[in-house]
Amino acid sequence: MITVQDFFDERIRLPSPPAIAIKILKAVREDDNSFKELAEIVMADPVLVARIMKLANSSLYGLPRRVDSLAQATVLIGTQNLKNIALSFVIVQEFQDATQGGFDLNLYWRRAISAAVAAEILAKNVGQKDHDLFISGLLQDIGILIILLTDSATLTEIRDKKRVSGMSLCDTEKEVFGFDHTEISNHLLTTWSLPDTICGPIRYHHSKEPIEPYRNSALILNFADKISALYHGTQSNKKAIEVRQGLKDIYQFKDEQIDRIVDAIGEKSREVMELFTIEPGHIKPFSQIVQDAVEELSKMNFSYEQLVLELKQAKQNADQLALNLKKANDNLRELVFRDDLTGLYNHRYFQDVIESELQKAVRYKHPISLLLIDIDYFKSVNDTYGHLGGDRVLKEISQIMLKLVRQNDIVARYGGEEFAIIMPETGKVGGKVLAQRVRRGIEQHQTKYNNQLITVTVSIGLVSTDMANVEITRKALIDRSDQVLYKAKRNGRNRIEI
Ligand code: GH3
Ligand code: MG
Ligand code: MG
Repeated sequence: MITVQDFFDERIRLPSPPAIAIKILKAVREDDNSFKELAEIVMADPVLVARIMKLANSSLYGLPRRVDSLAQATVLIGTQNLKNIALSFVIVQEFQDATQGGFDLNLYWRRAISAAVAAEILAKNVGQKDHDLFISGLLQDIGILIILLTDSATLTEIRDKKRVSGMSLCDTEKEVFGFDHTEISNHLLTTWSLPDTICGPIRYHHSKEPIEPYRNSALILNFADKISALYHGTQSNKKAIEVRQGLKDIYQFKDEQIDRIVDAIGEKSREVMELFTIEPGHIKPFSQIVQDAVEELSKMNFSYEQLVLELKQAKQNADQLALNLKKANDNLRELVFRDDLTGLYNHRYFQDVIESELQKAVRYKHPISLLLIDIDYFKSVNDTYGHLGGDRVLKEISQIMLKLVRQNDIVARYGGEEFAIIMPETGKVGGKVLAQRVRRGIEQHQTKYNNQLITVTVSIGLVSTDMANVEITRKALIDRSDQVLYKAKRNGRNRIEI
């Protein structure tokens, strides 16, 4: 790797600027705003004067009235600006013929002029008072031209490498040279003794952290470079979106404002290029580029987002469907297994569960108990309070039983006024305790019906199996509990038989 200085010392073959450029350069750096001095320099070149006047009268400066003389232009545009314009003409002229095989010099200057115009217009729109931005924009990439003139093979290598790697131009240059074109531009222009106000922003126009006091101008140059690239480079659509977003983020411009500014840059570039005798080529209006870009993007986004959306929707629908189905199934199961009046499990469910619970108990040799509960003299409840009163009692008794049993116990309506409670993992002792609790709970409960209080009692038949009785079947279990229930009835009701 070599330093920028080595690079210039050893390899550069810059044509020396013509006498007039040297004089203007001197005038530019003296910065004494002396009109007389500039006039003296350029008067010798009538073509140059004509061009300066044309540029001064171009829409770029938008002067309130036509200016006919350098003196008038100086008043309205400023001597410093005019010096920069003059220098710009001389430099572009000087490097316009520096043709090298494979390098489109016309394109290079198209980009440079658009960047200059963009820098000038952006500066106005963000209120950046920097009179040197036009020439800084014009010369910001002159380093690339220097690489071309000095070592066109390396420039080709850099461009190929950039294309293949997808790296930025600056990073590619740094890899090849150890420095990038902004440093070369800066070195050349400093060597020419151009002021820091021109060189500084150029040095930092690709820098992520431009140093003060060049930060704002460097940022403008960076945008100017991008806007120019979108008019004269490839992938305009992508760049248009980037430029738009960037201008929004940094300067809080509105979309319409951005479109107006960038469109103006395109139009004025064309006008200024003609003055520099650079063929403008085809400049598509920015609004058109943006429209194309947005369309392209929305097409892409539409298909992708639409796909994602549809997938999400489909999944949501499927999830919802599954949920609904589960709910419907649950409801159906409830309907099938529940008793309408009491909400308890019905006879059918009871038969299923007693079967499976009994199998489990047998397999694991665990105890199981079954209670059959029959309301005493229920017929007379119906007779006294009516069928609806009887229904009310059945409902309330059901709730009492649900409260009194444990979570794993299964309470079912076995038939009319008969209930069954399956108590898994429960032997004779536990079964008896629970049976007593149920009997007592029902005995103590009063059902309010039509301002009357109804109390009922129940008789309970309890059957418990333990390890010894592993052969018992469902039917035998139920028959047995039925028998003990009737024993309880026979023995006086409101009691438990085991
Ligand atoms: P015991 O003490 O011998 O059991 O006498 P009981 O009157 O309770 O016995 P029985 O079997 O003779 O009568 C049961 C009554 O229960 C007959 C029937 O009308 C009534 N019953 C059955 N299902 C319902 C019901 O859903 N609602 C009402 N209100 N009564 C019912
Ligand atoms: Mg009864
Ligand atoms: Mg009965």
